[in-house]
Amino acid sequence: MSDCLFCKIIAGEIPSRKVYEDDLCYAFHDIDPQAPTHFLVIPKEHIQSVSQVDENNQAVVGHIFTVIARLAGEMGMESYRVVSNIGDQAGQSVHHLHFHVLSGRDMTWPPG
Ligand code: 5GP
Ligand code: ZN
Repeated sequence: MSDCLFCKIIAGEIPSRKVYEDDLCYAFHDIDPQAPTHFLVIPKEHIQSVSQVDENNQAVVGHIFTVIARLAGEMGMESYRVVSNIGDQAGQSVHHLHFHVLSGRDMTWPPG
């Protein structure tokens, strides 16, 4: 999508600090980290949010979780949180599916 911030990051039109990349997904550090470790994992295909995951694109979501598990292991993260906000009330500000991976501090539940 030409007017999507994360599609522009994937295309290299907007710079980002890459954590990992493969044919299906891209991981990069959040510009406004909410924990000592805070990166985002996004599909290269534009999907609006979890609400748009279906039988045709579900494989990339499973793949992203294998990537998260592998990166967490490689980075020595023993405890972490994976978050995806869906819609405005939940706090989604970029409408391209993304999974926040946060680690390195105590976290509370329920989230705010
Ligand atoms: P959301 O609020 O949609 O759940 O998450 C969007 C995230 O994208 C936010 O945590 C925000 O800090 C991050 N973000 C917004 N713009 C940029 C950017 O230009 N570069 C990077 N690396 N992160 C961004
Ligand atoms: Zn996009």
